Amino acid sequence: MLKLENIKKSYSTKDYVQDALDGVSITFRKNEFVSILGESGSGKTTMLNIIGGLDKYDSGDLLIEGVSTKKYKSSNWDTYRNNRVGFVFQSYNLIPHQTILANVELALTLSGIPAKERKERAVKALEDVGLIDHIHKLPNQISGGQMQRVAIARALINDPEIVLADEPTGSLDSETSNQVLDLLQKVAKDRLVIMVTHNPKLAHKYSNRIVELKDGKIVGDTNPYEIHTEEKPMLINPSKKSRMSFLTAISLSVSNLLTKKGRTLITALAGSIGIIGIAAILALASGISLYIAGIEQDTMSAYPLSVDSSGIDITSFLGGEGRASMIGDMGEVKGNEIGVINTVTALFAKQNKNDLKSFKAYI
Ligand code: ADP
Ligand code: MG
Repeated sequence: MLKLENIKKSYSTKDYVQDALDGVSITFRKNEFVSILGESGSGKTTMLNIIGGLDKYDSGDLLIEGVSTKKYKSSNWDTYRNNRVGFVFQSYNLIPHQTILANVELALTLSGIPAKERKERAVKALEDVGLIDHIHKLPNQISGGQMQRVAIARALINDPEIVLADEPTGSLDSETSNQVLDLLQKVAKDRLVIMVTHNPKLAHKYSNRIVELKDGKIVGDTNPYEIHTEEKPMLINPSKKSRMSFLTAISLSVSNLLTKKGRTLITALAGSIGIIGIAAILALASGISLYIAGIEQDTMSAYPLSVDSSGIDITSFLGGEGRASMIGDMGEVKGNEIGVINTVTALFAKQNKNDLKSFKAYI
């Protein structure tokens, strides 16, 4: 059971606020075929999207099985959309590069059902809508009416309690429209079907309740349902969370890549050019540093440096007797003579330690 309580929704654009729904209250039975009629812009799509959890209401409440959705988080809405609602749109919304079978199967991938069971259920759903001979075709190889039947099969695959259809016959001729509505009528036997339509004739022919909208308000209801229910606490089965298995995700990605070969190839090429560019710059940088190291080595080998096993401790010149006598003598020498002594000291520093004695004697 689905109940809307004083639902309001407005859309704000730059300098204008449009009231799409202006206090809508309505209760739907568990199992009926409801048509929503109204002029363009009267709020039909908005109402359907709010019922399906595709859009959020501003105020009021939407009760699902007597449970308020005011405190719903986005994960709760995901679970609701994925398990309890099936959508059918005017433009079919089929994926053009996937086969009919794959399109229907896709609706099950988020439920984490194994691939084999997914295929069996999709084949069965397509059989139910009379399309078993077309399951390996692409959407553009079948007619509009058939595409809408694929969309209905896809909406039903999860066995939802509610099917929402937004102008499902909007793009179809009258004969095909009748086929699609026959199908929806059958679907409505054991679930709630809410269909938005422009066409009052079709609405009267197929549905058992017609709700009329005008300027975001309900102005007519041919079969109202009033029931007083107590509000229940929010209770959502966590095991029904939407989830796609890792393998499914991989196989979907691969099939998506394969269907767009040209784009994949160009992307791969562009990626490779980037990687090759970085590799070339790194190779060039390391080549240049190797070249510079080689040049350095060649140049330096012309001026060999040798390391001897024995060395000179120059500070020892300045220590002990020698230093005392040197400092004593320094008092008598003039500025330019100090220069001469420095030169001599430098010369002697190059000699062996044994020569130091003669140096001291020399001084
Ligand atoms: P219907 O389906 O009956 O033609 P809609 O529910 O689509 O009507 O729209 C109701 C009103 O809300 C319209 O006036 C429309 O212009 C406005 N509206 C709907 N969606 C948006 C949006 N996303 N942004 C701004 N205005 C919107
Ligand atoms: Mg609409």
